[in-house]
Amino acid sequence: MTNEQKRYKSWPFEEAARIVRAGRGRLPETAVFETGFGPSGLPHIGTFAEVARTTWVRRAYEHVTGGKTALVAFSDDLDGLRKVPDNMPNAGMLREHLGKPLSDIPDPYGCCASYSGHMNGRLREFLDAFGFECCFRSSSEAYRRGDFNAGIKILLDNVEKVLEVILPTLQEENRERWSPFLPKCERCGKVYTTRVTAHRKDADAVDYRCDTPFGDVPGCGHTGTASIYNGGVKMGWKVDWALRWYCYGVSYEMYGKDLIPSAELSSRIVAIMGGKEPCGFFYELFLDEAGEKISKSRGNGVSVEQWLAYAPVESLAHFIYRDPRQAKKLYFEMIPRAMDEYLDQLRRYPEMEEGKRPDSPLWHIHRAGASVPSYASSVNFTMVNNLVAALGTSDRDLLLGFLRRYDPAVERFPEILGPLVDKGLRYYNDHILPNKRHRAPSDAERPLFLALRSKLSGPGVDGLDEKALQSLVFDVAREHGIEPPEFFAAIYQVLLGQERGPRFGSFARLVGIERVIALIDEHAGVSSSP
Ligand SMILES: [Zn+2]
Repeated sequence: MTNEQKRYKSWPFEEAARIVRAGRGRLPETAVFETGFGPSGLPHIGTFAEVARTTWVRRAYEHVTGGKTALVAFSDDLDGLRKVPDNMPNAGMLREHLGKPLSDIPDPYGCCASYSGHMNGRLREFLDAFGFECCFRSSSEAYRRGDFNAGIKILLDNVEKVLEVILPTLQEENRERWSPFLPKCERCGKVYTTRVTAHRKDADAVDYRCDTPFGDVPGCGHTGTASIYNGGVKMGWKVDWALRWYCYGVSYEMYGKDLIPSAELSSRIVAIMGGKEPCGFFYELFLDEAGEKISKSRGNGVSVEQWLAYAPVESLAHFIYRDPRQAKKLYFEMIPRAMDEYLDQLRRYPEMEEGKRPDSPLWHIHRAGASVPSYASSVNFTMVNNLVAALGTSDRDLLLGFLRRYDPAVERFPEILGPLVDKGLRYYNDHILPNKRHRAPSDAERPLFLALRSKLSGPGVDGLDEKALQSLVFDVAREHGIEPPEFFAAIYQVLLGQERGPRFGSFARLVGIERVIALIDEHAGVSSSP
């Protein structure tokens, strides 16, 4: 291992070093990275995360080895339709096709050649939209083209060994009828209603009978023989995964924690074939606020589209980057913090030593450090939200005016400031405004607001910095024998209608003393100067 490899500590570099140690990246061979997609539904945040993370490992590997790489995005569109997904149009039509390969089922949206054609198209658009460079492969095309013929022949010749691995993992009653080969019934077109009655090594074929009910879908009773070549059969899931590793020479693949047992079995199968499993890496799944697994059909959590409505894609990438082994909760209220953490990283990046930059998340997110934007302003997402709350306006130019006055440097970063204001406004209107409840000050609190107003109206206040403004609140609290945190909380609740709020000093500087006084007059019922 080179010194450079040892030097970098961030997880994509550790993964890259693991690929080298495992001998899965022998130069000058191209190291193949793979990511899988189940096209029974549309791409979601898990798809985004898996492709993004795999891309980061890929770039780190290229950086330390100088080797060539490829990323295969593989769509399992030869899988059968197991159930009609919720929220899918034409459910009645789809029910007729249960058990058939996704690539043989009409598009429920009516625009593409098949069900999986539609989902694959959306996946490719999705990958392109984020600039992920990968080579898309469809399972049905790969089988038909013969990509897997040689591997399937090995599996047929060694079918007893494959059975030895898989059968003990099945329930007793399923063992006798099980085969790694799933022939497509030539009469009814289903793959989940057939069972293999003989493995015919001499003929490179399997005999089958279409008589196994799949849920309440019956078989058609047909008896036939299917060639193992060019899509006559597909392989059952764990064997299919091993087949792909073997035939494409996959060096690296990530998967969700739920697939660990499958990956173990697939590794044993690829060994039977005389191949080697890729370096694997499992990641934790995304959860919603309550800790439940995110599901597209239930609509919990946050989708990629929803996130992008409120914050730019870099903030999502930054959120996904951190510790893939930690389960991440995904809900709307965390978007402001995620965005501000990303901006913090941007501010710090130029100060980092050049040699340490590859360990920054920004280096990975922004094309191996090639396109890290500069940002030297204190304006952030939370600030935009506070400003909208204080001004009670959705006027973009007015907001920009306030932000420029607060920090003139922000002017130099229009490509960050623009989305920050637009998306911040949308976030405020959709997620903060509906929950705002201004409460009236209590009789005990009213004199404090009056005293604060009086101090803010005093001479020389306009010239005070954030710290001095902040200490005005402490002074008022102390003079009235109240704990400062209590008064701060009252300020948020009464003036902003929020449970939490910004640091008072920064807030007063941002919105201006005059506006703070107006807020006190409006919400604390103090309308005349003392
Ligand atoms: Zn049939």
